[in-house]
Amino acid sequence: MNTETKKYSLLKVILRIIPIQFKSAPWNCLLENTLGIMNGLSFTLTVAATQKLFDAISGAAAGKADFWDCLSPLLILAAFTFGQQIINGVQNFHGIGVLLPKSAGRLTALIHQKLGRIDPVYFEDTGFLDDLNKAKEGVRAITMFCMIVFVCVSFYGVYFVSIGAYLFRLKPVLILTLLLAFLPAMAAQTVNIKVFTKLEEQSAPLRRESAYYQKTICDREYFKETRILGAFTFFYQRFEETLMLLTGKIWKAERKTALLQLLLDFSSFAGMALSSYMLFRATMAGEITIGMFAAVFAALGQIFGIMQEIVRQHIGNMNRDMGKVVNFIRLLAMPERTGTQGIPDFTKGVTAKDISFTYPGRDKPAISKVSLEIAPGETLAVVGENGAGKSTLVRLLTGIYRPSEGKVLLGGLDTAAASAPGVYQGVSGVFQKYQRYKMTLQENVAISDVSAGADPTRIRSVLSEAGFEMGGRKLDDMLSPEFGGVDLSGGQWQRAAIARGLYRVNGFIVLDEPTSAIDPIEETKIYKQFEQLARGKCAVVVTHRIGSARLADRIVVMDGGRIADIGTHEELMSRKGKYAEMWEKQAQWYERQEEKESV
Ligand code: ATP
Repeated sequence: MNTETKKYSLLKVILRIIPIQFKSAPWNCLLENTLGIMNGLSFTLTVAATQKLFDAISGAAAGKADFWDCLSPLLILAAFTFGQQIINGVQNFHGIGVLLPKSAGRLTALIHQKLGRIDPVYFEDTGFLDDLNKAKEGVRAITMFCMIVFVCVSFYGVYFVSIGAYLFRLKPVLILTLLLAFLPAMAAQTVNIKVFTKLEEQSAPLRRESAYYQKTICDREYFKETRILGAFTFFYQRFEETLMLLTGKIWKAERKTALLQLLLDFSSFAGMALSSYMLFRATMAGEITIGMFAAVFAALGQIFGIMQEIVRQHIGNMNRDMGKVVNFIRLLAMPERTGTQGIPDFTKGVTAKDISFTYPGRDKPAISKVSLEIAPGETLAVVGENGAGKSTLVRLLTGIYRPSEGKVLLGGLDTAAASAPGVYQGVSGVFQKYQRYKMTLQENVAISDVSAGADPTRIRSVLSEAGFEMGGRKLDDMLSPEFGGVDLSGGQWQRAAIARGLYRVNGFIVLDEPTSAIDPIEETKIYKQFEQLARGKCAVVVTHRIGSARLADRIVVMDGGRIADIGTHEELMSRKGKYAEMWEKQAQWYERQEEKESV
């Protein structure tokens, strides 16, 4: 997404987000604008009523009118002022208290829905993660942005048009008053837009970094390691450094805009002085009445005040948020993972045809020209050194990633051409970085098949198949000390995660080394059980432990993103290659166990 070079002008952004905002809360947007129009009109009506009152009072002072002639303009002015206060209060409450939270919720949902539809490979791209971070911040910014547009168009717009017509009717040259207030302010803000858009671009990676370092200092999952390794100070320093860089950039941008603000204040003052002089001349020349002078003079302060508010506060805020809003728009415009409907039929097995895959931002492919066939009902083990490409291969075979070259046929479905929900149907997997959901034990297992719901008997059965000892534990035990529950040991968590993978109804199941916290002998036991459960299905087991790999029908040996060898345990051993080498190194673990079992 960050490769997008297309520039968004303020107008383009406004035109794009107004429909999004209206869609998120149509009635509230309509109400907000109606209140704005009423508010704008009430301001002008108040100026006109002030003029009438002042004219009546100066008439009374000159003995041409009495108290009763002054009373009705006074009451009209009081009614307008009161009405204006009420409308203002209702608009403020509605904007911040109703429209903002309602839209923020809907727009967040929009981001989440979009994330569900884009290709998961984007999450491997750090540029995308930066932009996503900014886009999430754009949720609130969009509504604030739109509220400002609404205020500027329906409230200030109506106010300026009506007060402009009023001034023009009094004396056409007084229209200049509006321009004097508007032009210098707009010029200053064009510069502001550039400064803050650049600031937003530069600060997103720093914000992400500082948030991460803060996590390493404060989060529960890090605290044991950072304290015992004495890494707390290191991370604290990193946190401080990124924060300093961030504040430095903000300070630079603020300094630039503060100078512009000073110029703006000066030009506003000059504009107001000139407008007052024009009014004074018109009154002296008898072109306007004293009442008109007083009303317009009072309104002048309001006009310049509103201009300052629009420019300094509103447009200033829009500038600051422009980057976030643009990222939100870009996120929504990102291509989605679409494709034809279809469900994999695993009686056709799983086939990789000459596939290659390169991670975003990397030059070297993680997988090169791999061809592989998993027959229906076959269990395949994948072994290889760290970084050999085992996990990447599994992500390609399960359709999570689509190959850059070649084809994966998952139960007959081409993963690049089929829609994502179709591809994932009937596929289950347990990965190295499985999740420890802060939910009950039952929910932690049943989450893999939400459509099937939680079946306690089946949950107990898969837990037992994964070697999870219930002990005194109950299915509704909350697995999170933060939520008042208990924690599990690393091995127990891994078993719960395996149970989750088994619980999902599937025709193809993948275990990508979820057993690192379980000892080799126990792991082999789990895989023995798994091998039986996987009978009739396609299955892939990624493991560093040859004792477990041996249980599979065939073993794939990966090296440098390619298949170095493939065959049964016996075939690979007889070839005396990399596999035999790995076996030799690990054999002692299993030989002793085999001896024990044969006694
Ligand atoms: P291990 O046994 O350590 O889990 P592996 O065999 O599963 O390793 P992969 O995780 O598939 O290996 O990685 C294969 C290559 O792809 C490695 O060079 C790795 O650095 C690279 N790689 C993996 N994930 C990413 C990523 N998200 N972005 C960029 N490169 C990646």
